[in-house]
Amino acid sequence: MTTRWFEMGRQEVIEKLGTCAEKGLDEQSAKERLEQYGPNKLASAGRTPPWLMFVNQFKDFMVLILLAATLVSGLLGEWADAITIMIIVVINAILGFVQEFRAEKSMEALRALTAPEARAIRNGLERKVRASDIVPGDIVLLDTGDKVPADLRLLSLSNLEVEESALTGESNPVKKRVANMAGQEEVSLGDTRNMAYMGTVVVRGRAKGVVVSTGMHTEMGHITKMIQEAEDDQTPLQRRLEHLGKSLVIFCLGVCALVVVLGIWRGEPMYHMFLAGVSLAVAAIPEGLPAIVTIALAIGVQRMIRRNAIIRRLPAVETLGCATVICSDKTGTLTENQMTVRSVMVGNSTVRITGEGYDPKGEFHFDGSKGSEFNKLLKCAALCNNAVLTKGEVSVGGMFRNLKTGNLGRIWGVNGDPTEGALMVLAAKGKIWRNELEKKENRLFEAPFDSDRKRMSVVYQDASGSLTGYVKGAPDVMLELCTHIYRDGRVVPLSGSAKEEILKRNSEMARDALRVLALAYSEVSPLKPGEELTEEAVEKDLVFLGLAGMIDPPRPAAIQAIQTCRRAGIRTVMITGDHQLTAQAVGKELGLITSGSKVLTGAQLDKMDDQELQLEAEKASVYARVTPKHKLRIVRALKRNGHVVAMTGDGVNDAPAVKEADIGIAMGKSGTDVTKEASAMVLADDNFKTIAAAIEEGRAIYNNIRKFIRYLLSCNVGEVLVMFLAVLMGMPLPLVPIQILWMNLVTDGLPAMALGVDPAEKDIMYRRPRDPQESVFSDGLSWRILGTGTLFAIGTLMAFALGLMLGPVELARTMAFNTLVFFQLFFVFSCRSERHSILEVGLFGNPQLVLAVMISAALQLSVNYIGFLQPIFQTVPLELKHWVIIISIALVPQVLGVTFKAIKDRAKEKIMYIRA
Ligand code: ATP
Repeated sequence: MTTRWFEMGRQEVIEKLGTCAEKGLDEQSAKERLEQYGPNKLASAGRTPPWLMFVNQFKDFMVLILLAATLVSGLLGEWADAITIMIIVVINAILGFVQEFRAEKSMEALRALTAPEARAIRNGLERKVRASDIVPGDIVLLDTGDKVPADLRLLSLSNLEVEESALTGESNPVKKRVANMAGQEEVSLGDTRNMAYMGTVVVRGRAKGVVVSTGMHTEMGHITKMIQEAEDDQTPLQRRLEHLGKSLVIFCLGVCALVVVLGIWRGEPMYHMFLAGVSLAVAAIPEGLPAIVTIALAIGVQRMIRRNAIIRRLPAVETLGCATVICSDKTGTLTENQMTVRSVMVGNSTVRITGEGYDPKGEFHFDGSKGSEFNKLLKCAALCNNAVLTKGEVSVGGMFRNLKTGNLGRIWGVNGDPTEGALMVLAAKGKIWRNELEKKENRLFEAPFDSDRKRMSVVYQDASGSLTGYVKGAPDVMLELCTHIYRDGRVVPLSGSAKEEILKRNSEMARDALRVLALAYSEVSPLKPGEELTEEAVEKDLVFLGLAGMIDPPRPAAIQAIQTCRRAGIRTVMITGDHQLTAQAVGKELGLITSGSKVLTGAQLDKMDDQELQLEAEKASVYARVTPKHKLRIVRALKRNGHVVAMTGDGVNDAPAVKEADIGIAMGKSGTDVTKEASAMVLADDNFKTIAAAIEEGRAIYNNIRKFIRYLLSCNVGEVLVMFLAVLMGMPLPLVPIQILWMNLVTDGLPAMALGVDPAEKDIMYRRPRDPQESVFSDGLSWRILGTGTLFAIGTLMAFALGLMLGPVELARTMAFNTLVFFQLFFVFSCRSERHSILEVGLFGNPQLVLAVMISAALQLSVNYIGFLQPIFQTVPLELKHWVIIISIALVPQVLGVTFKAIKDRAKEKIMYIRA
């Protein structure tokens, strides 16, 4: 029977679990408990163990055909053939295994990176802990947007509402409380108001709770027992290629069968033709394609991680390369999120504030008199606030680095919302600290900030028992709630003209790119027995105190990234909850607002229907005073216009828009669990420039996939055509089966893999985004593949014919064999770019490729010159004159490539000249 924790009092639960509500567990006992109870995870489908991965390689269709061929060779007594084919099969399997293992390992590393975290109190300090390390007895803190990491008995809370649909199917959030629920016989999960369960989501408020059960012992564990996390990790391209692979298999088998039938008809020995057919099929079918695509994706994903972009869903890698619009939050993504209050409007005067960053040192310069209202405003700023100022040792690049001075050493920082941090610093500059005030006053109520309401309120009770509400928020919203103003030590009604004056000052501050907050207070009537405080009661008849304007400088890297995106045909749109004028000023500084672009507000959006919005969305580059629900409409409008939309989000309410976007992006530092879960990509540094970097990598990955498709298929077409044309023209077979199999190994293996990690081409962010519907073979890729393959075949047959003139058929075959291999090893360098010739791209840009080609060339030479390999591969040692022929023929595609490009460039220049 499970323990009925909800029936017990808080103290009883704490004692039973052997923990402390204030200090939590110490690290040592947390470690011991982790060993005792196991990790806090739901059982999931096991991953394929490495040995099985190796065995699976032999289940491949092509390998099965090869094994059948080995059997036939063995039965016919052709031992040399049988053993060589076996060795090739094993090497193939090892290569396949290494590729798959590497891909799986990188995917695993990725999963670990996106593992959820929780906030726990250990050793008396608040810490971020991996959710899987949470143990019974841990004291866990919850905030809006958090996913509850384990089953908790709640100890204290403020306005906590939890959405429990994952567990109960009920999508309305449940209001929680802490009182115990003794004396009830039948209690359903949804009724246990003093508990929060693993996997449910905090949609509002904050709380502290003690963990009562973890992992499979949680309610989630009970009902699901086996949660299969297996998500479909395949990308659309992978799926399309798999499909293509299947059609290619059928086509290749058909062609190979034709070659076999023609050969036999012409009188070639049956066994030879059978083996030739099988080898050709093996060589022709690009069986390595799926593995190389996975490797290219996995390596690309690693490169993105190094640039701070963490991919949560593999398909996003592909979609990133197609992005045409990025909708980005302002605060923290496009700006530094280093807020500093610069100016305050209070009473009749404006106050200029000096000082840097979060250092609570600075002066107030009044342009009028300093009345008592200033201190009241500072008190409101300190109390209606959850941020904590910290002072710590931070290195350059650390979170609290002083951006102006770059100072090292003990630097002031903020834990919590930077907007509130700035207000905390403002109060501290006036020697007002929240912890000092809280010695005499108690917080009874809190309605935390939320971007829909655009305000936050708290209620404090002083020693005499009277209640005061402190509220802060967006000025336009706050003025609606204010009926009075505090001026010259007195509360007077707020006249229409005073309101206008405040709004005028608000606009002036906003025009200077300041984020403006209004501060106010209210006298709250004493509570009747059984009555609870509500937002409505606190936020009515407010007394206006003043305005505080803070700067948040744009990130210089974001300004650059916006330009890069524009060159790459990607529009950046800023979406912010800030005032229109602030947004406009910041948008200008960021270079977002150009002639013809519009600034739209949430209020304007409310008046538009979806069709109007669709039209306007093409022109708007800044949206101001919007709420998360507007974000959803904006994404939809852009998508309907045919855009591929990347959308950032952090708060819990952003999740639907992030989910709806083609590429949902969550903030790694400031984002909530819910938004991260809805996203396809997480920015580890919350920085806009990382989005641009990820797009660049996404484009590069797609290009690399095209590069090796071009390479692999051109080579395969060449191999098939050589054999096909030879039998058609009545020539002896130019290649023996073992040579074909070998060629498949040395050319398709290492060089193709190295192409998959090719660095991005320099001009990749100077091109337009790719159409997501576009085929992988667009831009004439299939014709190029056929052209190159034909060239390979003609060249190889020429070398073969010359060989026949110069000596016996073995010499001719060795020449044909080497010509085709070197064709491929040279051609791989041309595949590094579809637009530029090999002279422009250079040979050494991809060191792995150079190494791969060198290894493959050395292996090829070894089957030519190592004595005991010659009979197996039916090669004869070549002389210099043979090599001259081979290399000159193998270089033809490069020469043609360079010449064509030069002619094309000249033609383009001429056209430009004529146009000019
Ligand atoms: P984004 O991060 O999407 O760019 P934002 O930070 O610009 O959004 P919000 O956080 O939704 O926008 O803030 C909207 C408005 O609410 C601000 O202009 C400010 O006036 C007010 N505001 C912001 N933070 C707080 C807070 N902690 N308490 C009270 N009011 C706030």
